[in-house]
Amino acid sequence: MSAHQRTFVITGASLAGAKAAEALRGHGFDGRLLLIGDEPDRPYERPPLSKGYLRGKQDRETIFVHPPRWYTDQDIDLRLDTTVTTIDRNRHAVTVSGGESIPYDKLLLATGASPRRLPVPGADLDGVLYLRRVGDCERIMDTFRTASRVVFIGGGWIGLEVAAAAREAGVEVTVIEPGELPLLRVLGPQIAPVFADLHRENGVDLRLRAHATEIVGGNGRVAGVRLTDGARIDADAVVVGIGAVPNTRLAVEAGLHIDNGVVTDASLRTSDPDIHATGDVANALHPMLGKHIRVEHWANALHQPGTAARAMLGEPASYDRVPYFFTDQYDLGMEYAGYAEPGDYDDVAVRGDLNGREFIAFWLSNGRVLAGMNVNIWDVNDAIQHLVRSGDRIDRNRLTDPDMPLDQLTAG
Ligand code: FAD
Ligand code: NAP
Repeated sequence: MSAHQRTFVITGASLAGAKAAEALRGHGFDGRLLLIGDEPDRPYERPPLSKGYLRGKQDRETIFVHPPRWYTDQDIDLRLDTTVTTIDRNRHAVTVSGGESIPYDKLLLATGASPRRLPVPGADLDGVLYLRRVGDCERIMDTFRTASRVVFIGGGWIGLEVAAAAREAGVEVTVIEPGELPLLRVLGPQIAPVFADLHRENGVDLRLRAHATEIVGGNGRVAGVRLTDGARIDADAVVVGIGAVPNTRLAVEAGLHIDNGVVTDASLRTSDPDIHATGDVANALHPMLGKHIRVEHWANALHQPGTAARAMLGEPASYDRVPYFFTDQYDLGMEYAGYAEPGDYDDVAVRGDLNGREFIAFWLSNGRVLAGMNVNIWDVNDAIQHLVRSGDRIDRNRLTDPDMPLDQLTAG
C-alpha cells in the first residue's frame, strides 16, 4: 500500500501530539492524518501555565504550538473536545466519543499525564485547585486576584513555581511538603536547600515533613488545611501539586505492555508494532542510559515525537537526547540536563556561588558527569549535555574551576 493511502491517528492533542503531526508531514507522510484531543483548545504548551501566562507576563495566544490555520494548511484533521475511548487492535481502529470508529494503519499514543488526586476528606471542596490545563491556570489567576491566603500541597515543580507566582501577586503562601526538603528526590540534599532558601526569602511559610490529613470547609468552600499534628492552616484556596499519573487507561485496556507508563523500545514502538507512544505517557528505552525512563518534561515532549514519527514511517529511529528541563521561580532561572536518581551518584561538585544562586552543579558517579544544572548562568547547557554524553571521567578541580571552559573538559 502506498503511503498516501494510509491513515495515521494521533491520540492526545498537546505538545507531543502536535509535534508528531508536524514531524510526520515534515518527513513526507501524505496520507490521512488525524490528531484527536479531549481538550477544547488546540495544542498548547504547559510551561507558561505555571510561569509567564499565570503571572500575566505572556499573552494567551503565545502558548499555542501552531496557529489555527497551520492544521488546515497541513491537511491535519484536528478533532478537539473528542476522547478516544477504545482501541481495537485486531480491527486496527479506534472509537471516539460519539461512537465513530476510525481505522488506523499506525496509532500514536500521546495521552500525557494527569494530576494525581489528593486522597483526603474535603478534597472535593470548592477552592481546591489542580493545574494541568489552561482553564485550571485561569482559575488560579482569578483566585490570586481575590484570595489572601493560599496553601500549596506538594513542594514539587507545580507547587514551587505557582507559589512563586502567588507571592508575586501578593498572596500569603504556605507550602506543605512531606519530604525533608522540596525537590529532595530530584536535586539531593546538597542542592535542594537552594530552592527552600529561595522560597523562605520570598516570604513562603515552608512546612516540611508535613502531611495534610483534611481540607477543612466552611459553607462548601475551602477554609483551611489540617495537618497530621492537628495544626490547622487557614486558607482561601488550596493548590494541589502532588505529581502526575500517566494516562494509560486506553493502553491498559488494549493489553499493551505497561510499567510506569506505556513501555516502548528506543524507537517509541510499544508491544504492538503498529502502536507507538511518546511524551509523558511513554516509558521509553533510552540507549545512552541503558534503561527505560519516563520523562515528564517539556523538552522530551518537544523532541521525542520526531523519533516516533520516523519509526511510524518505517525509518530507523532511536531517541537518545540527553534529558533536559528548566524552571523559573522569582529571579532564579535554571536548566538541568542529564539523569541522576538518588543512589546513582557518589559526589556533587559545584562551580560558582551556591549561596548567591549563580552556579553550576554536577552530579557525578566515579568522576563521570551524570547530570548538570546551571542556575542563573546561561549558554552553558549544551556543554553540560556534551559532558554527560561523553561519559568521560572529569578532573574535579577543573570541573569546579570557573575559569576552565566546560567545552575543554572532555577528551573528545
Ligand atoms: P500532555 O501535555 O499531558 O498532553 C496529553 C493530551 O492528551 C492532553 O490534552 C490530554 O487531555 C489528552 N488526552 C489524554 N487521553 C486522551 C484520550 N483518550 N483521548 C483524547 N485526548 C486525550 N516541563 C518542563 O520541562 N519545564 C517546565 O517549565 C514545565 N512546566 C510545566 C507547567 C505545568 C503547569 C505543567 C502541567 C507541566 C509543565 N511541564 C514542564 C511538563 C510538560 O508540560 C509536559 O512534560 C508536557 O506537557 C507533556 O506533553 P504531552 O503532550 O506528552 O502530554
Ligand atoms: P512533581 O514535580 O512530581 O512533585 C510532586 C511533589 O508532591 C513532590 O514533592 C512529592 O514528594 C510531593 N507529594 C507526593 N505525594 C504527596 C502527597 N500525597 N501529599 C503531599 N505531597 C506529595 O509533580 P507536580 O509538581 O505535581 O507537577 C506535575 C507534573 O508537571 C510533573 O510531571 C512535573 O514534572 C510537571 N511540571 C514540570 C515543571 C518543570 O519541569 N519546570 C513545572 C511544572 C510542572 P516526593 O518527591 O517526596 O514524592
